[in-house]
Amino acid sequence: MTSPRRCRSREEVDLKTMQAMLLDAPHTALRPAELPIPEPGPGQVLVRVRTCGVCHTDLHILDGELTEPKLPLIPGHQIVGTVAVCGPGAARYRPGTRIGIPWLGGTDGTCPACLRGQENLCDHPTFTGYQVDGGFAEYALADERFCFPLPEAFSDAAAAPLLCAGLIGYRTYRMAGEAVNRLGIYGFGAAAHIVAQLARYEGKRVFAFTRPGDSAAQEFALQKGAVWAGDSSLSPPEPLDAALIFAPVGSLVVNALQGVRKGGTVVCGGIHMSDIPSFPYALLWEERVLRSVANLTRRDGEEFLALAGRIPVHTDVTLFPLARANEALEALRRGTLTGAAVLSISPD
Ligand SMILES: [Zn+2]
Ligand SMILES: [Zn+2]
Repeated sequence: MTSPRRCRSREEVDLKTMQAMLLDAPHTALRPAELPIPEPGPGQVLVRVRTCGVCHTDLHILDGELTEPKLPLIPGHQIVGTVAVCGPGAARYRPGTRIGIPWLGGTDGTCPACLRGQENLCDHPTFTGYQVDGGFAEYALADERFCFPLPEAFSDAAAAPLLCAGLIGYRTYRMAGEAVNRLGIYGFGAAAHIVAQLARYEGKRVFAFTRPGDSAAQEFALQKGAVWAGDSSLSPPEPLDAALIFAPVGSLVVNALQGVRKGGTVVCGGIHMSDIPSFPYALLWEERVLRSVANLTRRDGEEFLALAGRIPVHTDVTLFPLARANEALEALRRGTLTGAAVLSISPD
Protein backbone atom coordinates (compact mmCIF):
# COMPACT_ATOMS: atom_id res chain seq x y z
CA MET A 1 0.00 0.00 0.00
CA THR A 2 1.26 3.47 -0.79
CA SER A 3 0.12 6.29 1.40
CA PRO A 4 -1.54 9.28 -0.29
CA ARG A 5 0.71 12.18 -1.25
CA ARG A 6 0.82 14.63 1.61
CA CYS A 7 2.31 18.02 2.03
CA ARG A 8 2.99 19.28 5.48
CA SER A 9 4.92 22.26 6.66
CA ARG A 10 7.42 21.82 9.44
CA GLU A 11 5.65 23.95 11.99
CA GLU A 12 2.63 21.63 11.99
CA VAL A 13 4.38 18.44 12.91
CA ASP A 14 4.27 18.71 16.66
CA LEU A 15 0.99 20.50 17.13
CA LYS A 16 -1.95 18.44 18.26
CA THR A 17 -4.51 20.87 19.59
CA MET A 18 -5.86 24.29 18.73
CA GLN A 19 -7.79 27.08 20.38
CA ALA A 20 -11.32 27.64 19.12
CA MET A 21 -14.51 29.49 20.04
CA LEU A 22 -17.35 27.03 20.17
CA LEU A 23 -21.14 27.35 19.99
CA ASP A 24 -22.80 24.61 22.07
CA ALA A 25 -26.39 25.69 21.46
CA PRO A 26 -28.31 28.67 20.09
CA HIS A 27 -28.89 31.56 22.50
CA THR A 28 -25.62 30.91 24.32
CA ALA A 29 -22.32 32.74 24.14
CA LEU A 30 -19.38 31.13 22.37
CA ARG A 31 -17.01 29.41 24.77
CA PRO A 32 -13.25 29.03 24.44
CA ALA A 33 -12.22 25.43 23.85
CA GLU A 34 -9.05 23.47 23.18
CA LEU A 35 -9.78 20.97 20.41
CA PRO A 36 -7.81 18.46 18.37
CA ILE A 37 -6.47 19.89 15.12
CA PRO A 38 -8.56 18.14 12.46
CA GLU A 39 -7.01 15.91 9.78
CA PRO A 40 -7.76 16.82 6.18
CA GLY A 41 -9.69 14.19 4.24
CA PRO A 42 -9.55 13.58 0.48
CA GLY A 43 -9.55 16.85 -1.46
CA GLN A 44 -9.34 18.93 1.70
CA VAL A 45 -6.75 21.34 2.98
CA LEU A 46 -5.99 22.14 6.59
CA VAL A 47 -5.58 25.90 6.86
CA ARG A 48 -3.83 27.81 9.60
CA VAL A 49 -6.27 30.66 10.17
CA ARG A 50 -4.81 34.15 10.22
CA THR A 51 -8.02 36.17 10.31
CA CYS A 52 -11.73 35.46 10.15
CA GLY A 53 -14.44 37.99 9.49
CA VAL A 54 -17.56 38.22 11.65
CA CYS A 55 -20.86 38.39 9.77
CA HIS A 56 -24.54 38.99 10.50
CA THR A 57 -25.12 35.40 9.45
CA ASP A 58 -23.10 34.31 12.49
CA LEU A 59 -25.59 36.24 14.63
CA HIS A 60 -28.51 34.56 12.87
CA ILE A 61 -26.95 31.18 13.74
CA LEU A 62 -26.35 32.18 17.38
CA ASP A 63 -29.89 33.48 17.66
CA GLY A 64 -31.43 30.29 16.28
CA GLU A 65 -32.82 32.05 13.21
CA LEU A 66 -30.85 29.68 11.00
CA THR A 67 -32.09 26.42 12.37
CA GLU A 68 -29.79 23.68 11.15
CA PRO A 69 -26.30 24.29 12.48
CA LYS A 70 -23.94 21.46 13.28
CA LEU A 71 -23.53 21.48 17.08
CA PRO A 72 -21.23 22.08 18.73
CA LEU A 73 -20.05 24.45 16.02
CA ILE A 74 -17.03 26.59 15.30
CA PRO A 75 -18.63 29.55 13.46
CA GLY A 76 -16.91 31.80 10.94
CA HIS A 77 -17.05 31.81 7.15
CA GLN A 78 -14.73 34.60 6.04
CA ILE A 79 -11.45 32.80 6.61
CA VAL A 80 -8.03 34.01 5.53
CA GLY A 81 -5.23 31.56 6.20
CA THR A 82 -2.33 29.61 4.85
CA VAL A 83 -2.40 26.02 3.70
CA ALA A 84 -0.73 23.88 6.35
CA VAL A 85 -1.53 20.33 5.28
CA CYS A 86 -2.98 18.94 2.05
CA GLY A 87 -5.23 15.91 2.32
CA PRO A 88 -5.08 12.95 -0.08
CA GLY A 89 -5.50 14.14 -3.66
CA ALA A 90 -5.50 17.83 -2.75
CA ALA A 91 -3.04 19.40 -5.19
CA ARG A 92 -4.38 22.85 -6.02
CA TYR A 93 -2.41 24.77 -3.37
CA ARG A 94 1.07 24.32 -1.98
CA PRO A 95 1.72 24.57 1.76
CA GLY A 96 2.20 28.19 2.74
CA THR A 97 -0.16 29.51 0.08
CA ARG A 98 -2.57 32.11 1.41
CA ILE A 99 -6.17 31.33 0.53
CA GLY A 100 -9.68 32.43 1.45
CA ILE A 101 -12.47 30.13 2.59
CA PRO A 102 -15.99 31.47 1.95
CA TRP A 103 -19.52 30.57 3.07
CA LEU A 104 -20.07 28.11 0.21
CA GLY A 105 -17.94 25.21 1.37
CA GLY A 106 -19.27 22.52 -0.96
CA THR A 107 -22.04 21.38 -3.28
CA ASP A 108 -23.22 18.00 -4.53
CA GLY A 109 -22.51 18.99 -8.15
CA THR A 110 -25.40 16.80 -9.33
CA CYS A 111 -28.69 18.42 -8.31
CA PRO A 112 -30.81 20.36 -10.82
CA ALA A 113 -29.54 23.71 -9.51
CA CYS A 114 -25.89 22.69 -9.85
CA LEU A 115 -26.55 21.34 -13.34
CA ARG A 116 -28.15 24.67 -14.27
CA GLY A 117 -24.99 26.45 -13.17
CA GLN A 118 -26.64 27.84 -10.03
CA GLU A 119 -24.47 26.16 -7.45
CA ASN A 120 -25.44 28.88 -4.96
CA LEU A 121 -28.87 27.21 -4.89
CA CYS A 122 -27.58 23.63 -4.53
CA ASP A 123 -30.03 21.19 -2.92
CA HIS A 124 -27.29 19.70 -0.74
CA PRO A 125 -24.83 22.48 0.03
CA THR A 126 -22.22 22.58 2.74
CA PHE A 127 -21.87 25.97 4.37
CA THR A 128 -18.73 26.92 6.24
CA GLY A 129 -19.22 27.77 9.89
CA TYR A 130 -22.73 26.30 9.77
CA GLN A 131 -22.78 22.70 8.58
CA VAL A 132 -19.02 22.27 8.97
CA ASP A 133 -16.69 24.01 11.39
CA GLY A 134 -15.48 27.44 10.39
CA GLY A 135 -12.74 29.89 11.17
CA PHE A 136 -13.20 31.03 14.76
CA ALA A 137 -10.24 28.75 15.49
CA GLU A 138 -6.54 28.42 14.86
CA TYR A 139 -7.12 25.82 12.12
CA ALA A 140 -9.92 25.04 9.70
CA LEU A 141 -10.58 22.40 7.07
CA ALA A 142 -11.87 23.22 3.60
CA ASP A 143 -12.61 21.53 0.30
CA GLU A 144 -9.86 23.04 -1.82
CA ARG A 145 -12.17 23.39 -4.83
CA PHE A 146 -14.21 26.02 -2.98
CA CYS A 147 -11.29 28.15 -1.76
CA PHE A 148 -9.92 31.22 -3.49
CA PRO A 149 -6.41 32.57 -3.89
CA LEU A 150 -6.38 36.12 -2.52
CA PRO A 151 -4.95 39.21 -4.24
CA GLU A 152 -1.66 40.18 -2.62
CA ALA A 153 -2.74 43.79 -2.30
CA PHE A 154 -4.92 42.88 0.69
CA SER A 155 -3.57 42.35 4.17
CA ASP A 156 -4.95 39.38 6.10
CA ALA A 157 -7.23 41.71 8.04
CA ALA A 158 -8.40 43.64 4.99
CA ALA A 159 -9.08 40.47 2.98
CA ALA A 160 -11.41 38.78 5.48
CA PRO A 161 -14.51 40.93 4.85
CA LEU A 162 -14.16 40.35 1.12
CA LEU A 163 -15.09 36.70 1.62
CA CYS A 164 -18.72 37.19 2.58
CA ALA A 165 -19.58 40.86 2.91
CA GLY A 166 -17.74 41.48 -0.35
CA LEU A 167 -18.82 38.36 -2.21
CA ILE A 168 -22.50 38.40 -1.30
CA GLY A 169 -22.48 42.18 -1.64
CA TYR A 170 -21.09 41.79 -5.15
CA ARG A 171 -23.74 39.25 -6.13
CA THR A 172 -26.45 41.50 -4.69
CA TYR A 173 -25.06 44.49 -6.58
CA ARG A 174 -24.94 42.55 -9.88
CA MET A 175 -28.54 41.43 -9.44
CA ALA A 176 -29.62 45.07 -9.53
CA GLY A 177 -28.89 44.96 -13.27
CA GLU A 178 -26.84 47.03 -15.66
CA ALA A 179 -29.13 50.01 -16.21
CA VAL A 180 -28.50 51.49 -12.81
CA ASN A 181 -27.08 54.89 -12.09
CA ARG A 182 -28.80 55.92 -8.85
CA LEU A 183 -28.25 53.06 -6.41
CA GLY A 184 -29.80 53.00 -2.94
CA ILE A 185 -28.13 50.96 -0.19
CA TYR A 186 -30.07 50.20 2.99
CA GLY A 187 -27.88 49.30 5.96
CA PHE A 188 -24.35 50.66 5.76
CA GLY A 189 -22.12 48.00 7.33
CA ALA A 190 -19.53 45.60 6.02
CA ALA A 191 -21.21 44.67 2.73
CA ALA A 192 -22.35 48.18 1.92
CA HIS A 193 -18.99 49.80 2.46
CA ILE A 194 -17.49 47.45 -0.12
CA VAL A 195 -20.36 47.68 -2.61
CA ALA A 196 -20.31 51.48 -2.46
CA GLN A 197 -16.74 51.38 -3.71
CA LEU A 198 -17.63 49.01 -6.59
CA ALA A 199 -20.55 51.24 -7.53
CA ARG A 200 -18.49 54.42 -7.46
CA TYR A 201 -15.78 52.71 -9.53
CA GLU A 202 -18.42 51.89 -12.14
CA GLY A 203 -19.68 55.48 -12.22
CA LYS A 204 -22.85 54.99 -10.21
CA ARG A 205 -24.25 57.38 -7.61
CA VAL A 206 -24.83 55.81 -4.21
CA PHE A 207 -27.58 56.88 -1.79
CA ALA A 208 -26.98 55.39 1.66
CA PHE A 209 -29.74 54.74 4.20
CA THR A 210 -28.87 53.99 7.82
CA ARG A 211 -30.59 53.46 11.13
CA PRO A 212 -32.37 56.73 11.95
CA GLY A 213 -30.02 59.13 13.70
CA ASP A 214 -26.88 57.07 13.02
CA SER A 215 -24.81 60.04 11.94
CA ALA A 216 -21.54 58.07 12.29
CA ALA A 217 -22.73 55.53 9.71
CA GLN A 218 -23.93 58.33 7.45
CA GLU A 219 -20.58 60.07 7.68
CA PHE A 220 -18.86 56.74 6.93
CA ALA A 221 -21.06 56.24 3.85
CA LEU A 222 -20.11 59.66 2.52
CA GLN A 223 -16.44 58.84 3.07
CA LYS A 224 -16.91 55.65 1.05
CA GLY A 225 -18.27 57.57 -1.90
CA ALA A 226 -22.00 57.92 -1.31
CA VAL A 227 -23.40 61.16 -2.79
CA TRP A 228 -26.14 61.27 -0.16
CA ALA A 229 -26.67 59.63 3.22
CA GLY A 230 -29.69 59.79 5.50
CA ASP A 231 -32.13 57.96 7.73
CA SER A 232 -33.83 54.86 6.33
CA SER A 233 -37.19 56.46 7.13
CA LEU A 234 -36.56 59.24 4.59
CA SER A 235 -37.43 59.22 0.90
CA PRO A 236 -34.44 59.44 -1.41
CA PRO A 237 -33.85 62.94 -2.79
CA GLU A 238 -34.44 61.55 -6.29
CA PRO A 239 -35.99 58.27 -7.52
CA LEU A 240 -33.61 55.32 -7.36
CA ASP A 241 -32.93 52.94 -10.26
CA ALA A 242 -32.32 50.12 -7.80
CA ALA A 243 -31.96 49.53 -4.08
CA LEU A 244 -29.96 46.92 -2.18
CA ILE A 245 -30.99 45.93 1.33
CA PHE A 246 -28.28 44.63 3.65
CA ALA A 247 -29.97 45.29 7.00
CA PRO A 248 -32.10 42.33 8.21
CA VAL A 249 -35.17 44.52 8.60
CA GLY A 250 -38.24 43.55 6.58
CA SER A 251 -39.89 46.97 6.74
CA LEU A 252 -37.02 48.34 4.65
CA VAL A 253 -38.43 46.41 1.68
CA VAL A 254 -41.43 48.73 1.73
CA ASN A 255 -39.24 51.83 2.09
CA ALA A 256 -37.05 50.67 -0.79
CA LEU A 257 -39.99 49.92 -3.09
CA GLN A 258 -41.30 53.42 -2.38
CA GLY A 259 -37.92 54.81 -3.38
CA VAL A 260 -37.36 53.06 -6.73
CA ARG A 261 -38.60 54.30 -10.08
CA LYS A 262 -40.83 52.41 -12.51
CA GLY A 263 -39.07 49.22 -13.59
CA GLY A 264 -36.63 49.54 -10.69
CA THR A 265 -35.28 46.61 -8.72
CA VAL A 266 -35.04 45.97 -4.99
CA VAL A 267 -32.57 43.24 -4.00
CA CYS A 268 -32.47 41.70 -0.51
CA GLY A 269 -28.91 40.60 0.21
CA GLY A 270 -29.28 38.97 3.61
CA ILE A 271 -29.87 35.35 4.53
CA HIS A 272 -32.49 36.24 7.12
CA MET A 273 -34.86 39.16 7.54
CA SER A 274 -37.67 40.07 9.90
CA ASP A 275 -41.15 39.78 8.36
CA ILE A 276 -41.99 42.14 5.53
CA PRO A 277 -45.11 44.17 6.35
CA SER A 278 -47.96 44.03 3.86
CA PHE A 279 -47.96 46.87 1.35
CA PRO A 280 -50.22 48.13 -1.44
CA TYR A 281 -49.76 46.52 -4.82
CA ALA A 282 -49.16 49.98 -6.26
CA LEU A 283 -45.64 49.85 -4.80
CA LEU A 284 -44.79 46.82 -6.93
CA TRP A 285 -46.85 47.88 -9.95
CA GLU A 286 -45.13 49.30 -13.04
CA GLU A 287 -42.72 46.43 -13.30
CA ARG A 288 -40.79 47.03 -10.15
CA VAL A 289 -38.91 43.88 -9.21
CA LEU A 290 -38.34 42.51 -5.73
CA ARG A 291 -35.88 39.66 -5.34
CA SER A 292 -33.43 38.02 -2.97
CA VAL A 293 -29.89 36.81 -3.38
CA ALA A 294 -28.74 33.54 -1.88
CA ASN A 295 -25.17 32.53 -1.15
CA LEU A 296 -22.51 32.72 -3.84
CA THR A 297 -21.04 30.82 -6.72
CA ARG A 298 -17.35 30.24 -7.23
CA ARG A 299 -17.61 32.40 -10.32
CA ASP A 300 -18.87 35.29 -8.18
CA GLY A 301 -15.79 34.84 -6.03
CA GLU A 302 -13.35 34.83 -8.91
CA GLU A 303 -14.95 37.86 -10.56
CA PHE A 304 -15.29 39.85 -7.38
CA LEU A 305 -11.81 39.22 -6.00
CA ALA A 306 -10.23 40.22 -9.31
CA LEU A 307 -12.32 43.39 -9.40
CA ALA A 308 -11.65 44.20 -5.74
CA GLY A 309 -7.92 43.93 -6.40
CA ARG A 310 -8.14 46.20 -9.47
CA ILE A 311 -10.10 49.04 -7.85
CA PRO A 312 -8.62 48.43 -5.18
CA VAL A 313 -11.35 48.15 -2.56
CA HIS A 314 -10.38 49.49 0.85
CA THR A 315 -12.01 47.63 3.71
CA ASP A 316 -12.38 49.24 7.12
CA VAL A 317 -11.96 46.65 9.85
CA THR A 318 -12.02 46.53 13.62
CA LEU A 319 -9.80 43.73 14.93
CA PHE A 320 -10.59 41.51 17.91
CA PRO A 321 -8.51 38.65 19.29
CA LEU A 322 -10.09 35.18 18.96
CA ALA A 323 -10.90 35.01 22.67
CA ARG A 324 -13.02 38.17 22.31
CA ALA A 325 -15.25 36.79 19.55
CA ASN A 326 -18.34 37.33 21.70
CA GLU A 327 -17.51 41.02 21.99
CA ALA A 328 -17.12 41.29 18.23
CA LEU A 329 -20.52 39.66 17.72
CA GLU A 330 -22.17 42.00 20.22
CA ALA A 331 -20.61 45.05 18.59
CA LEU A 332 -21.99 43.86 15.25
CA ARG A 333 -25.41 43.32 16.80
CA ARG A 334 -25.48 46.80 18.29
CA GLY A 335 -24.30 48.38 15.06
CA THR A 336 -21.51 50.24 16.84
CA LEU A 337 -18.79 49.29 14.34
CA THR A 338 -17.91 51.16 11.21
CA GLY A 339 -17.09 48.65 8.52
CA ALA A 340 -16.36 45.03 9.40
CA ALA A 341 -15.42 43.08 12.52
CA VAL A 342 -12.50 40.71 12.04
CA LEU A 343 -10.91 38.22 14.40
CA SER A 344 -7.13 38.30 14.33
CA ILE A 345 -6.14 34.72 15.11
CA SER A 346 -2.62 33.76 14.00
CA PRO A 347 -1.21 36.93 12.46
CA ASP A 348 2.11 36.56 10.71
ZN1 LIG B 1 -26.27 20.79 -6.09
ZN1 LIG C 1 -21.55 36.04 5.92
